[in-house]
This record gives sequence, C-alpha cells and structure tokens, in this order.
Amino acid sequence: MTKNTKVMLAYTYISHGKFELIDKPKPELQSPRDAIVRITLGSICTSDLHIKHGSVPRAVPGITVGHEMVGVVEEVGSEVRSVKAGDRVTVNVETFCGECFFCKNGFVNNCTDPNGGWALGCRIDGGQAEYVRVPYADQGLNRIPDSMSDEQALFVGDVLATGFWAARISEIKPDDTVLIIGAGPTGICTLLCVMLKQPKHIIVCEKSPERARFVREHYPSVEVVAPEDCAATMRQKCERGGADVVLEVAGAEDTFRLAWECARPNAIVTVVALYDKPQMLPLPEMYGKNLTFKTGGVDGCDCAEILSLIEAGKIDTTPLITHRYKLADIAEAYHLFENKLDGVIKVAVEP
Ligand SMILES: [Zn+2]
Ligand SMILES: [Zn+2]
Repeated sequence: MTKNTKVMLAYTYISHGKFELIDKPKPELQSPRDAIVRITLGSICTSDLHIKHGSVPRAVPGITVGHEMVGVVEEVGSEVRSVKAGDRVTVNVETFCGECFFCKNGFVNNCTDPNGGWALGCRIDGGQAEYVRVPYADQGLNRIPDSMSDEQALFVGDVLATGFWAARISEIKPDDTVLIIGAGPTGICTLLCVMLKQPKHIIVCEKSPERARFVREHYPSVEVVAPEDCAATMRQKCERGGADVVLEVAGAEDTFRLAWECARPNAIVTVVALYDKPQMLPLPEMYGKNLTFKTGGVDGCDCAEILSLIEAGKIDTTPLITHRYKLADIAEAYHLFENKLDGVIKVAVEP
C-alpha cells in the first residue's frame, strides 16, 4: 500500500490528561482568507500543558495541539494578499480578523470573530503536526527574512510575542527598577524585551537554581534573586519602597502576592502568567498603595517588528532551545518539558 499523502501525523488532545500522536487528514482551505502551512519547526508551550491538565476549559477535545510554529506556505485562499505559496512564515498564536473594533485598536486577543483569540491548538487544530490551516492568513502569518533560520524565528508568534507585549504595556522608563518574576521561557522572553527598554535596573526572581544559572550566564547585567529573598531584596535595593514595574510571569502558588508586595506605591504590575487557580486580590491590604494592574492575554500584533529586531541582532531566543526532537517522538519531548528535566527551557520539534 502506498502512503496516503492526505494523511498526516498530529499530536491530539484526546481527553483530560491525555495527548496522543495520531493520523489525521491533512487540513484543507475552508475560507478564501485561509492558508495551509507546512510546518518545518514547532515547539511546546506551557499553555499546552494547561490544556492537558484541564485548566483551559474552552479547549476542544480532538483538536491538534500546538500553537508555536514556523513553516512554509503550501497554499493560500483567493483573498490572501500578504503571503504566497513557498514563503517561509511565522504563525501567530492568535487568530484575528483585523477589522473589528478590538483588532483596529491593537487588542487582537479580544477579536470578536467567532474564531478570534487563542484558537489554534485550543479550539481549532494547531501545529504539533505536519500541516496547519491558518485562518485570516494575512493577519496570522509573517514572512521570515531569508537570512533568518527557523530556530531564530520559532518563538515570534507566541512566547516572544508575549514577552514583547508585556514589556510594551508595562510603561517602562529609563530610571526604573523592573522586577520580573519567573525565568521560564516566557519570563526569559519578557526579560529580553524589557532589556530593549533599557531600564536602570532589572531583577529576575526565579526559584529553580538551573534557570537562575541560565539567566546569570546569558544576561550577566541582570540580578537574580530567589523567591524567599525577593521581598527583602526589593525593600533594600529600591529607595522608593519596591519595584517601579513588576512583571509576574511565574503563575505559581504565591507569585501573584509576591508581585504586588514587591511593587512600590503607584507601580504597574503586569500579570502575564496564566494561573491554574483564582488569585486573591486583598484590597484592604493594598489600600493606599494605588497600584495599576494589567492582566494577561497577549496581543500578538507586533510580529513584524519582532522579526526585524531579530534580524537586526537585538533579540536572540536561540539559547532557549535546549532540546530538539522529531515529531514522532513528541511524547518524549512533552515528558521532558513537563517535568523540567535536564535543564530544559524550550524544545524544538521537527515534523
Ligand atoms: Zn503558548
Ligand atoms: Zn477582529
């Protein structure tokens, strides 16, 4: 029997706690604004694990997971203008129409289209597969410059877009002390984008000695503290009583509290993390601190700018790729990533 070329491998959300690599039909265009992308490199995101463990209720069982990928455009619908077959592209985690009120104001995460927001690998088939259908391809795809490798571009559409957005909305000024809580993949991408803003002082709070070492090794100008020392360090180092800007990227049990506790009065606290559980906002304790909270859900509309920063050598996320796998072995890659084994930061998965 010859191999059916209309069938592909797709890592699929079967049920709570269970993902499986199964055969699926290769996706086809469903709208004139769609594109089909042949994936050349993908990754695993913590949000994939959130789906696996049931903390993303809108995730649909049966969908192909994965929303971090780059590839080559295979086919485009008749209304797609910005890319054509053969173009190398990054795929945006978010689906957005480009036309509604929210899209026009840059709040693409809140696009009112029924498929708007985080759809790929959550509500519609995603990219831990050989091919993916990308709706609104003019919005969702960005061309990768010829000089750039797939590995350099891999995180543009999701984790790096998140870091870029977080730094953008945090109103960082040159005189600021910025605290970043969490040095996982999103935390490090946030750090890279905060560094572009050149604040006076950057402190990263991370509990894993391995990850703390990674930050010290790659970004020697950044100070790294352990969570148990964080509040005291901030009180001691910041003459204004805390950080001017706090970015909470950890999403752990106590990190939301740590974030606002380490903020100075009138600071901005940007919550990038996706929590498994509700968090307490103890307003009586905060009274008079006059904090501004900004909450998560990346607006991934800066991908073109991010690609040009990578091209200019200003952002480099390739050190984050600590492990490489074939799609056939993706279950192994999940095991490693989920259990944070062997110093993993990010994995690259090649179909
Ligand atoms: Zn993600
Ligand atoms: Zn929209």
